[in-house]
Amino acid sequence: MKTDLSLADFTTGLTDLLLPRRCLVCGSVLALHEKHLCINCLADLPRTGFSNLSHNQMADRFNSMVQEGEYCFATALFFYRASTGYRKITQSLKYGFDIKAGRYFSGRLGKEMASSVLYRDVDAVIPVPLHWTRRWTRGYNQAEVIAGELAVSLDARLRNDILFRVRRTRSQATLAVGDKGRNVEGAFRVRRNRIRDVASYSHILLVDDVFTTGATLYSCYSALRPCTAARISVATLAAVEGTPSAPPGPSLPPSSSSSSSPNSPASSNSPPLSGSSSELSLANKTGRICTPPEPGDLT
Ligand SMILES: [Zn+2]
Repeated sequence: MKTDLSLADFTTGLTDLLLPRRCLVCGSVLALHEKHLCINCLADLPRTGFSNLSHNQMADRFNSMVQEGEYCFATALFFYRASTGYRKITQSLKYGFDIKAGRYFSGRLGKEMASSVLYRDVDAVIPVPLHWTRRWTRGYNQAEVIAGELAVSLDARLRNDILFRVRRTRSQATLAVGDKGRNVEGAFRVRRNRIRDVASYSHILLVDDVFTTGATLYSCYSALRPCTAARISVATLAAVEGTPSAPPGPSLPPSSSSSSSPNSPASSNSPPLSGSSSELSLANKTGRICTPPEPGDLT
């Protein structure tokens, strides 16, 4: 009788004897072929099923904040429920340095997205940046770990060099829903020497670990939008269920000088801004300029 036990399995089995791997959710000891979750917790993973739905509760919540551009697709692997052990999946990545598990679950999300027609044309994956001081103390950016796996799955470019965080913000997890939007408002900018790159993409995917109100992703979206007419979609490992009050809408003034309707979708997927070197030419329809002076480009 042929055995399928590989050298890797043998090594894992040996390591398990010394230091048993445990299920992230229920803590039970994992069997040889189980990865990060036991078979029962994996079966019960509260999947969102959003990857094949252009309209879903996460996308609707995000699009309710968006004033212009094409409809944003949005997806997450599973529902974040504070009362269940599944929250430990994102917590272990963010606070427990469990990058291996983060990659594993991101890979599962990437597989889902790669088989969905909605995300086939994604050509750039951009993680929500950490402030350089936080990245330095943590040693890595959890959104970048997720984005890296999604970029591989979608055969797109990982661009962690486009956005930067202008200032340190308080942890969103510690804030009331209504304060989250204000906390990250204007916190991100596009690097000036990456504006042309942003304009060249047709479908950008913004990535974070957890979607709660969408305020952080929306702040990133607001930084990118004036630079491109591309579709900008969002993906996270987990999404909070329900409909928390949306954070304050865009802080931009109603744009009295604008001639365009704030809700009018972009007329084309092609970047309209290519071929110009003037920063003024990067002003979008509302008259906003893509990237203001950036004294705080710290990384
Ligand atoms: Zn379990």
